[in-house]
Order: sequence, then C-alpha cells, then structure tokens
Amino acid sequence: ATPTALMVGTGRSAKLGILIKNGEVLEAANTVKTIVFDKTGTITEGQPKVTDIVGDAPAVLRNAASLEAASEHPLAAAVLAKAKAAKIAVEPVRDFQAVAGQGVTGQVKGQAAFIGNAKLLTTPLPPKLAQAMADLQQAAKTVVIVGVAGKAIGLIAIQDAPKASSATAMAALKQQGLRTVMLTGDNQRVAQAVADQVGIDEVIADVLPGDKAAAVAKLQQTAPVAFVGDGINDAPALTTADVGIAMGSGTDIAIESGGIVLVKNDLMDVVTALTLAKKTFNRIR
Ligand code: ADP
Ligand code: MG
Repeated sequence: ATPTALMVGTGRSAKLGILIKNGEVLEAANTVKTIVFDKTGTITEGQPKVTDIVGDAPAVLRNAASLEAASEHPLAAAVLAKAKAAKIAVEPVRDFQAVAGQGVTGQVKGQAAFIGNAKLLTTPLPPKLAQAMADLQQAAKTVVIVGVAGKAIGLIAIQDAPKASSATAMAALKQQGLRTVMLTGDNQRVAQAVADQVGIDEVIADVLPGDKAAAVAKLQQTAPVAFVGDGINDAPALTTADVGIAMGSGTDIAIESGGIVLVKNDLMDVVTALTLAKKTFNRIR
C-alpha cells in the first residue's frame, strides 16, 4: 500500500465525517466479513425515555431516582428526568455501589434498595411482575426492577428508539454479503425486538461488560470482524476487533479505542467507510 493513495482515501473520508486513524485500519476494513454492533447509543439514539412504571409509582420513582442520581449509566438519566417531571425528590444514598452490567445498589432512607436487571435479584420476581416485564420487553423496552429490603416493589420500562438510518444501513451491509450481529448487555427479549426492528440477523444478549471482547474474539474465529460501539464497556471490544468503529458521540475511551470514528453517529457511514476501503485498495492493487 502506498501512503499517498491512503492519504487520498482518508482525506476524502474526513470531509464526510469519517475519521480513519491510519492506513492499516483501512486495509483491515477491506477484509471484514462480520459487523458487530453495540445496541444502546450505536443502533439506538442513546436517549432512553421512561415509558411505563409498574407498582406504586411515587415509591418506585423515589427509590429509583435516589440510586440513579450517582450513576453515569444512560438509563439513569432517563429515570432522573422522569422523577423530576413527576416532582419526586431525590433522597441521599449511603453505601452507593454500581454493579457493571447489572445496576446500582445503596441505602435509601435506611433501607437497602436496588435498581437494575434480574441479575441483581436473589429471589425470583412475583409472577405478576414477571409477566408485566416480559410484555414490556416484547415491545422493545428495557425493563429495570426496583427493589427495597430484598423485595421487588416495581418496574420501570425505558425505551430508546433506533436511529433513523439503522435499518437502511443493515440492509446495505447485508446486500454486500456481510454478517450482522448485535452484542449487548441488555436482555435477550429486548435485544431481539430491536434487532427485528432494524433487520439484524443475529443477537448476542445478556453479555456482561467484561465479556464483550471475548464475544468478538469468538466471532473472529470465523472471519475478520468490525465492532461498532460507543460506551466505556465497548472499549475492549473496539480494540479486539480487526476494525474498531466508534461513534463520535461516544465516551472518550471508546473514541480512543476506535480505528475509525463516525463523527455523524450515522450507521450509513459504516457502509461508506467499508466502500471507501474497498475503493482505496482496488486502486492501489
Ligand atoms: P449495553 O451493552 O446495552 O450498553 P450495559 O452493559 O451498560 O448495557 O447494561 C446492561 C444492563 O444492566 C442494562 O440493560 C440494565 O438492565 C442494567 N443496568 C446497568 N446499569 C444500570 C443502572 N445504572 N440502572 C439500571 N439498570 C442498569
Ligand atoms: Mg452503547
């Protein structure tokens, strides 16, 4: 590969809002056969909103918002916005703890409380809540459980709409014969519902943040992989993949870990970047 030809490729792409770190990245992009996507903030807008509350809403929201006040998770912002709109005051929290890929725990008004997914539960959900949870997840909503003193007191359903171009991008990638996969820490049912909305072929859900890179490595056994993500928990997967593609709206660590950065956060630019890689290398050869 001649540096001049690569500069042309990368210089053009920068004007389109596709930042390519070096020529090797473009060369690797030319070999990719599988594209793996994070869900939240990558396929979806990353601006989750509370849509439903199951249980005694003021109590559910008070405990939830108090815990989430110290959390940096995108779901926390949705819960806090809802509490603010409902004029629910946030209580001080003692012994705050964030559990990666699960949720947060702490003492609210002297009682142990938690918010997060089913991994935080020590006893199964009562059947009524379990059914409500399944129904909401079927509707592509992420459901978090709120608990006090070891018992679930309610649910909060949160929706994050797919980006306008996600479905078009998936169709274009598949048209080029590429394998599309979603890799997410969210629940299987929600992940599948979102995958169906945008037309992703395969879903790997319930993946703990520390396990995303290993999942990418496993897919690499079949063919070279590009991973597209935005979060702190996506950084190891971005570096493990043959090509790491970070959203410009992503966390600093994701952007640093990506070989390609999509300034416009538009998944159609994944298609553009791969096409560019092809054009660049066909010209050189
Ligand atoms: P993703 O891979 O979709 O970005 P994460 O690994 O960050 O997801 O989180 C996975 C799941 O853990 C979330 O869908 C949620 O159920 C739960 N979770 C994590 N952090 C929180 C939090 N602060 N509040 C509520 N739930 C949380
Ligand atoms: Mg994300």
